[in-house]
Amino acid sequence: MSSPFPRRRTLLKLAAAAGLAPAGLAPVIGRAQGIGRVVVIGGGFGGATCARVLKKLQPILNVTLVEPSKVFTSCPFSNEVIAGQRDIKQQQFGYDAIARDGVVVAQTSATSVDPTQHRVTLADGNTLAYDRLVIAPGIDIDWKALPGYDEAAAEKMPHAWKAGDQTLLLRRQLEAMEDGGVVVISAPANPYRCPPAPYERASQIAWYLKTKKPRSKVLLLDAKDSFSQQRLFQNAWSELYPAMIEWVSLSQGGNVTSVEPATRTFVTDFDKHRGDVANVVPPQKAAVITMKAGVADRTGWCPVEPVTFESTLQPGIHVLGDAALMGAMPKAAFAANAQAKVCAAAIVARLAGREPQEPRLINTCYNLVAPDYGFTIAGVYRPDKGQLLEVPGAGGASPVDGDRTLRAQEAHYAEGWFAATTAEVWG
Ligand SMILES: Cc1cc2nc3c(=O)[nH]c(=O)nc-3n(C[C@H](O)[C@H](O)[C@H](O)COP(=O)(O)OP(=O)(O)OC[C@H]3O[C@@H](n4cnc5c(N)ncnc54)[C@H](O)[C@@H]3O)c2cc1C
Repeated sequence: MSSPFPRRRTLLKLAAAAGLAPAGLAPVIGRAQGIGRVVVIGGGFGGATCARVLKKLQPILNVTLVEPSKVFTSCPFSNEVIAGQRDIKQQQFGYDAIARDGVVVAQTSATSVDPTQHRVTLADGNTLAYDRLVIAPGIDIDWKALPGYDEAAAEKMPHAWKAGDQTLLLRRQLEAMEDGGVVVISAPANPYRCPPAPYERASQIAWYLKTKKPRSKVLLLDAKDSFSQQRLFQNAWSELYPAMIEWVSLSQGGNVTSVEPATRTFVTDFDKHRGDVANVVPPQKAAVITMKAGVADRTGWCPVEPVTFESTLQPGIHVLGDAALMGAMPKAAFAANAQAKVCAAAIVARLAGREPQEPRLINTCYNLVAPDYGFTIAGVYRPDKGQLLEVPGAGGASPVDGDRTLRAQEAHYAEGWFAATTAEVWG
């Protein structure tokens, strides 16, 4: 296969000529004699990384990033916003640096994808043609999965699982709660965005209550019998917040079957629990554009092959981050960032007629249970039997008997990871 990359000077002219044009008035944008055109849907941890890395690896590529928000609000560290330790502004990042790198940033949503014609339709009426499409739109709440829980209910019982207004709503509700109140949190069955985050949230809320409303409690209703880094969390709860957090597992009746927003009530198999503050972490699925592109299957998530993250349902479309089924790799920003780099390298290889290299990916999940108390779990993943499997013995978690110096160091590393990653993606 010959390279699709013509000589650099011609390309620069062609690239300069490429821009957004209203559908129907002009041909679909971006096709300029052999320039590789990559469209990336979603400017979060996965998509923004991928767009930027594509342009760095192959500057002559025509890369368009489609993202409706002018400012991205990060979920990592949003539990600390809820606890009052951080300002929401510290979570927010714009796209100017990415645009300066030569990525065309289309500030709008993708509304449909035609995988046969290789076209993406945008909410502003434009159409983008692509040689390769990357879809990294994150999650949507599955509004049909939990009876009683819809968009109106989320205004009373916030999920705060997409950072922004929901994060601030939960924060305000905690501030308004009387001392002695009960905060009820429900955690869903797997899979969902960031497996340890409900437990980090319970810890962060307990930290706030301990410092401001010490007669209050957290009740954590769980649709699972075990959770990520359970011993580390539970040891920390006994040490920092004794008798303040009660965890009710699936077999103890923790599975929430419906909610009653008018009274902030969680209905379980055996009981009803009314919260003074009610935080529902609801069931989730890949964001809706994945359905429209035909890359999501009946599970609600997107199957991909594990070397390039190309959809197993639609050739030419890659899916990464939370929306994708990534085998053993958890849905995490660290993971999405790593997958994005692998995907960008694979796309550049494919467009140049080369075979992509088999990747090794790393993920690390940091958890902060108090400002100076953190721990981690890390894993290494490689393609095996058609999916990403964990390399045995290559990862590991913080020691359960680690002392407070180690916990304070790990809290510091968590902040370092966030600063370094967000600077790499948006800075
Ligand atoms: C409370 C909480 C704490 C967390 N803490 C951590 C942590 O400490 N470490 C960690 O690694 N992970 C953490 N996560 C998980 C992390 O937020 C996600 O795994 C990560 O954001 C996934 O990246 P993504 O690119 O797949 O999706 P996102 O980062 O959500 O980005 C998706 C983007 O796509 C855009 N989009 C959606 N649909 C369209 C469309 N049709 N057209 C155009 N754009 C679209 C959205 O606007 C969004 O900007 C946490 C999550 C939560 C909820």
